[in-house]
Amino acid sequence: MKILVVGSVALDTIETPFGKVENVLGGSAVHFSCSASFFASVALVGVVGQDFPEEYLQFLSSRNIDISGLQVSKGKTFRWKGYYEYDLNQAHTLETQLNVFKKFHPRLPQKYKNADFIFLANIDPDLQKEVLKQIKNPKLICCDTMNFWIENKQKSLLETIERVNIALMNDAEARELCKTYSLLDAARKIISLGPRTVIFKKGEHGALMFTDSSHFSAPAFPLEEINDPTGAGDSFAGGFIGYLAKSEDLSETNIRKAVIYGSVMASFNVEGFSVNRLRSLTHKEIDERYEIFKKITNF
Ligand code: AMP
Repeated sequence: MKILVVGSVALDTIETPFGKVENVLGGSAVHFSCSASFFASVALVGVVGQDFPEEYLQFLSSRNIDISGLQVSKGKTFRWKGYYEYDLNQAHTLETQLNVFKKFHPRLPQKYKNADFIFLANIDPDLQKEVLKQIKNPKLICCDTMNFWIENKQKSLLETIERVNIALMNDAEARELCKTYSLLDAARKIISLGPRTVIFKKGEHGALMFTDSSHFSAPAFPLEEINDPTGAGDSFAGGFIGYLAKSEDLSETNIRKAVIYGSVMASFNVEGFSVNRLRSLTHKEIDERYEIFKKITNF
């Protein structure tokens, strides 16, 4: 087991201009794990309620995902309800039901504590810190977040960000957190807190990576068919960290490649609702899209 993720495991109800689904498999840790498991073994830490369908547990176990750290608690599973208009970059939250997350405290099985690559997916930053306290000596720690936590738990979130090597978030969240229009300025502010690298996800406009001395820009894959952007950020993180874990190379050149693998995985994820597109995805398709990325960015 190389990668450890803590994050939400959810039942999502989503409406986009292309369809509507109710109580489907979702959550930041789920989208991340399904994506990262194409590259390396993943251990998932989270919680679900007794209403969580057995079929979803079986699906996760059938992948390269260890769910022995997924607690099943009394009560209802975390639920998120949202919709998108034709601007698919903007998720509109209708309802967030924390349910079993209200009383959840991550307990890492002994074998998880030595994981090399840690992803603190979008979840209450207090819980992200509880995981940080339990891990031993990882090679890389990354985190993600969203507006809900920026608005409700900002102090705690900043304490998490201070302790990670790479911070990921979307551009609107970076602007909100750093109170600036300029992403360059936001990157400087975040790097001054502690991370050596920051990655801003910009939906259909790709991703920007900043270090204290460099800047890399990757486009998003131009897609004709998109059904559901939910989980794009987490599947990006899955491809990004998955590739780093597989290659075990944290040089800047390789981190740039990982950004492209992240973009490849996000581009597949948005083609279907929930994680459905990743169910049929093959390694050959991933490699082909990576090669197309090389062509479209070469000049
Ligand atoms: P993304 O589209 O990558 O930003 O993440 C989408 C996933 O985040 C959905 O599957 C939701 O279940 C999950 N989610 C939504 N709100 C929250 C929240 N406040 N905390 C944790 N996860 C959330």
